[in-house]
Amino acid sequence: MAALGEFALIRQYFAAAACAAPRPGVALGIGDDCALLHLPPGERLAVSTDTQVAGVHFPHDPDPFLLAQRSLAAAASDLAAMGAAPLGFTLALTLPAAEPAWLEAFARGLDVMARACRLSLIGGDTTRGPLNINVTVFGSLPAGQALLRSGARPGDLLCIGGPTGEAAAALPLVLGARAAVGAGDAQLLARYWTPQPQLALGQALRGLASAALDVSDGLLADCGHIAAASGVRLVVEAPRLPLSAALRAAAGDQALTLALSGGDDYVLAFTLAPHAVSALQVAGVPFHIVGRVETGSGVALHDGAGRDITPASSGYQHFGGADGQA
Ligand code: ADP
Ligand code: MG
Repeated sequence: MAALGEFALIRQYFAAAACAAPRPGVALGIGDDCALLHLPPGERLAVSTDTQVAGVHFPHDPDPFLLAQRSLAAAASDLAAMGAAPLGFTLALTLPAAEPAWLEAFARGLDVMARACRLSLIGGDTTRGPLNINVTVFGSLPAGQALLRSGARPGDLLCIGGPTGEAAAALPLVLGARAAVGAGDAQLLARYWTPQPQLALGQALRGLASAALDVSDGLLADCGHIAAASGVRLVVEAPRLPLSAALRAAAGDQALTLALSGGDDYVLAFTLAPHAVSALQVAGVPFHIVGRVETGSGVALHDGAGRDITPASSGYQHFGGADGQA
């Protein structure tokens, strides 16, 4: 790649990064044809991959320090959703040019998020082309304890790990349609660029949650995946949704809509038998009860009086509609 050269680039910015340092669980890191991971007996390997494309998942010419954090966080969120303990990740990076300042900032951002997530950089691939970032994450969890989407049962409660809608409310700021003003907008931008994967919550949910996923395509749409996989109906109670002050200030009367259907939240949504609530509270990880599981199919939205206020024309994937499809 350009003046720097592919192997010098890998050595300088990635193999030398703090997040590529040796650690338990990684038997062999960057430098050979494969990395080798060590899994204790009885543990399963959890694997997920996530690609971010310039102009699709983020605007052209983004801040590389933030882009790296967002790319790794989006992938790590899937480990959280499965209840996996983080192990390592690979980075397949396609770059238009090898610019040292850009690479230095990108590697720094990667280190920040890797440290926050306790993930080691164990390998990757470096090519020239339009900016594209693929991260594959590896985690471990005891056999039989993965948090699947398919275990929700009627009578369970529907919960989320934090407020939704803030990343979607940041979009006009990210796209430059509006200038950021004050702490509220800074909070929205942080939610978009540096989401914090809920890894501690995911691991605390092992043996407690009946189903879980991470919300990336909008709360209602993603709840539809649990409903479909579990063969149940999910009811979201609108007044129970935590709407942050920053979201309300930026989105006004659209705040609820963004909380329900905005994307890029990267918080967990999960179902829980009522008797498991106190055990999860003891674990000390915050969460919000926002609805319940019923027999049936699809996802419904209720107001405070129990009236159905499900949006008629949804556009949401897997949204319970007239055809009864979950
Ligand atoms: P191969 O030709 O066997 O695919 P490469 O020459 O592409 O290997 O990469 C050499 C080593 O550097 C490998 O261990 C690979 O995993 C690692 N690597 C390549 N690109 C990156 C990157 N962007 N980040 C981290 N490791 C990388
Ligand atoms: Mg090879």
